[in-house]
Amino acid sequence: MTLHIPFDNSYARLPGRFFARQAPVSVAAPGPIAVNAPLARALGLDPAALAGAEGVAMVAGNLVPEGAEPLAQAYAGHQFGGWNPQLGDGRAMLLGEIVAPAGSPLAGRRVDLQLKGSGPTPFSRRGDGRAWVGPVLREYLVSEAMAALGVPTTRALAAATTGEAVIRDGRALPGAVLLRVAASHIRVGTFQFFHSRRDLEALELLAGHVRARHYPGAEGPRGLLDAVIAAQAALVAQWMALGFIHGVMNTDNMAVSGETIDYGPCAFMDGYHPQTVFSSIDSHGRYAYANQPQIAVWNLAQLATCLLPLWGTEEAVAVEEATASVHAFADLYQAQWLARFRAKLGLVRGEDDDLELIEALLSLMAADRADFTRVFRGLAEGTARDEFLDRAGFDAWAARWQARLAREAEGGARAAAVMRAANPAIIPRNHRVEEAIAAAVEGDLGPFRALGAALADPFGAVPASPYRGAPLEDQRVLRTFCGT
Ligand code: AMP
Ligand code: MG
Repeated sequence: MTLHIPFDNSYARLPGRFFARQAPVSVAAPGPIAVNAPLARALGLDPAALAGAEGVAMVAGNLVPEGAEPLAQAYAGHQFGGWNPQLGDGRAMLLGEIVAPAGSPLAGRRVDLQLKGSGPTPFSRRGDGRAWVGPVLREYLVSEAMAALGVPTTRALAAATTGEAVIRDGRALPGAVLLRVAASHIRVGTFQFFHSRRDLEALELLAGHVRARHYPGAEGPRGLLDAVIAAQAALVAQWMALGFIHGVMNTDNMAVSGETIDYGPCAFMDGYHPQTVFSSIDSHGRYAYANQPQIAVWNLAQLATCLLPLWGTEEAVAVEEATASVHAFADLYQAQWLARFRAKLGLVRGEDDDLELIEALLSLMAADRADFTRVFRGLAEGTARDEFLDRAGFDAWAARWQARLAREAEGGARAAAVMRAANPAIIPRNHRVEEAIAAAVEGDLGPFRALGAALADPFGAVPASPYRGAPLEDQRVLRTFCGT
């Protein structure tokens, strides 16, 4: 059961200005929270070794495993639209990378192993480099739920407590560390870091690294830009189809791999409204649900700007081509969005009026703040009507929908299966996540484990699951907070 991790660290081989070497800072008393055994096995790692004393010590930061080359990555970024030339991993450290071995389910896949909450780094500024169990469990639950929902995302491989208190808003809270897995942690902000320093050599190296790692088929800077744009269009369409609000779509929180990254004040909507915002710091609603595609475009335009110096043509040509690529997002996104919402209505073929049919339902939902997840799942289960106050409005819409379903190739026969595969029954509802965190603070991991188990099968048909219910009035979570 000795811990063996076959590190192969490509990022650490990049020049020193890409990062700061920094070892995790030891903690008082490492304790286990969880090990994600299926993910460990998928990566060819031994779950028992991760759960053993050495594994827990590694997650908490008290043991640097052989072959790890811990470092904090440098990046910059626009935070709420404001430029910050120097961010970087302030409470995270990359231990290194592994390539899942032949024979494992993810064979050949290269992933980062990163600790989050492992102590200060040269990029910590005024922060303490730590995390409390709240954000760690939140990211664990929500990122794993996203994976089970089929959304590209960073993953949670393990978590541990530190035995030390973390002070937040004057409260002493139990400290924790998350061991996170990602295709990479390279962000739009990583490109911005070098672009803003006019470091063309580093930009070239970074683009090459990203191409080799994520988009081997992409040719030149434009191919790379187009690939990232397509990945983000598909990703954001998936968020929208699940009622997911990222909450802090700063350029430093957008991974060029196309994975969802940085689960801070993220939330799944309960009652639907396009302008929904949860994040306590998003006072102007910049990152509201309905704004997410436009914000993605804004971020991708920043990436495009960073790639211009690599274009190898006259500047005017480069600007024109890059602009065309960024503008292509709209159509890519719309096609993905339409396909996903069609599936949510059980539609496989496309008809011109489908967009109007979908929007009509969303308008009724918005008027009643009907529960996003329960309405769509209810379409498959015959209970959607119960979610509306305006029953007559819903009935009129449902008549149109039924007529449309009848025009599908196999009538409605296949529709229920299509809808069940597109509309989850179980999502990480805010009040359940908060409940799990509150219990964990008191030392009870039972609710965290039970919720995690339920979220592993979001599309399954468990009609009586306690996790399917919308929050009662007094359970409703209105604000979520950054993961600090
Ligand atoms: P975020 O918006 O949560 O992704 O964080 C923005 C920046 O703040 C990143 O550079 C983080 O590394 C840094 N940061 C957030 N929380 C802390 C903390 N507790 N200690 C040090 N740095 C932090
Ligand atoms: Mg971040």
